[in-house]
Amino acid sequence: MSAGTLTPVASDRLRELLEVVLERNAFQRSRLEQLGLDGLPQLGDLPPLAKRELVEDQARHPQFGTNLTYPLERYTQLWQTSGTTGPPLRVLDTAEDWTWWRELFAHTLTVAGVRAGDRVALAFSFGPHVQFWAAYQGLQEVGAMALALGGMTSVQRLQTIAETEATAVWCTPTYALRLLEVAVEQRLDHALESVRQVICTGEPGASLPAVRSRIEEGFNATCVDHAGLTEAGPFGSPCPDGHGLHVLEDEFVCEILDDDLRPSDIGQRGELVITPLRRTGFPVLRYRTGDAVVNTDERCPAGHEGRWLPGGIVGRTDDMVVIRGMNVYPSAIEEAVRHVSGSGEFRITFYSEPSGMDEIKLEVELDEGSGARRLQEIMRQQLGLRVRIVPVNSGVLPRPDGKSRRVVDERSVRLVGQ
Ligand SMILES: [Zn+2]
Repeated sequence: MSAGTLTPVASDRLRELLEVVLERNAFQRSRLEQLGLDGLPQLGDLPPLAKRELVEDQARHPQFGTNLTYPLERYTQLWQTSGTTGPPLRVLDTAEDWTWWRELFAHTLTVAGVRAGDRVALAFSFGPHVQFWAAYQGLQEVGAMALALGGMTSVQRLQTIAETEATAVWCTPTYALRLLEVAVEQRLDHALESVRQVICTGEPGASLPAVRSRIEEGFNATCVDHAGLTEAGPFGSPCPDGHGLHVLEDEFVCEILDDDLRPSDIGQRGELVITPLRRTGFPVLRYRTGDAVVNTDERCPAGHEGRWLPGGIVGRTDDMVVIRGMNVYPSAIEEAVRHVSGSGEFRITFYSEPSGMDEIKLEVELDEGSGARRLQEIMRQQLGLRVRIVPVNSGVLPRPDGKSRRVVDERSVRLVGQ
């Protein structure tokens, strides 16, 4: 990465960010000192930052760690990450940083086509995660009506959507599919008639073409995706024409790195590494998002401004499992499942045969017997994977209510160095 690839605005913002952060932020300063770097470094001099380092810093320096650029009294918002892959992390925002979230969410909504006059149902529980509150704030910014559906059952949510004639639903892709299922089970299909848009968040699903088309068909509405992280901000806004996501280049430095943390080749998958340029209170420099994306130097088909991530977030790097020497992303298996008509909930299990060979089992709810054969074919041809498919009856597998937990790893523990 060189400064030449940054926009002039990004270049100025990066210099200002580094100046303020390295002068005042103890966490960032100590990272630099450990590297033996003096003066104002280039961004590329810094090693990419993993979430683990922030969590460890917070454990050593309770309650909020040392990644704080200002005195505590300057901070007005406290968030907590979900902690599904480790202890939760507390992230603080100043009033200025919170305004930045609000503006970026408004941008996402605007490109998604949400306007004043829209009524947007927020189908999630309002907890300590920034996502919900930022969504709410973004809607205020564009002048749309926010309908908070926290603390409701799916049936109550469907009834509220019907009664208020909501024009859009905002939720995880997993939950969008669940809501459709409940609507059918409870004969509430009509409840979604007023909805013309589904905004998906929190999981890669809505970037998967087969998941998206299922949601679009079920809701008879368009489906857009966006992406962000508590630690790195709302970096991905939807491309309504070319699909996938855009990253605003004046707001974020966007790098895509391979397993060795070097720039990925064009056309290859890599990990998205993000530097938000205007969030100074809890800054992250070269943050490893754990999101897998495809590296391209092309503009999106509609010619929009901004870095284009074709296919959006295509998986999580921490979900990736190596089976018989192949990188396997559960999202690719999900995409195949959604391609088969009549398929419902599914569960992927990675396990070891007594011989020591690693295998994949896919339990999937299927309407027709021919579905299993078709699924096997897709796996073999498109993914090059041999998968044991176990068809099960509809309604047998657990229903995830928010972010999906559909992967079980039962492989035998490997002893390093033996
Ligand atoms: Zn575009």
